[in-house]
Amino acid sequence: MPKCPKCNEEVDYLNLFSRIEQRGRFELDPSGDPQFLVEGTVPDYDDDDFECPNCNEVLFHDSDEAEEFLKSSVELSILRFKIKKKGEVW
Ligand SMILES: [Zn+2]
Repeated sequence: MPKCPKCNEEVDYLNLFSRIEQRGRFELDPSGDPQFLVEGTVPDYDDDDFECPNCNEVLFHDSDEAEEFLKSSVELSILRFKIKKKGEVW
């Protein structure tokens, strides 16, 4: 399982905070109270936060990097294990 570089805890997922801009009409209703009518959403991929579920540290802002972390860290931990085993033999 990949490990968080901040708290060193094993994580098998990341918390994703996706900010979506809403576009709509801001107007007064018949009784004079302001209201916001949502007409659509504008996804903003640049501002996504990928946080460690354990320490809540923001690790990535890019989904490709986050995906790579979850994939490659598996190989990385196998690699570390091999190095440790090799060291024990020496
Ligand atoms: Zn962490």
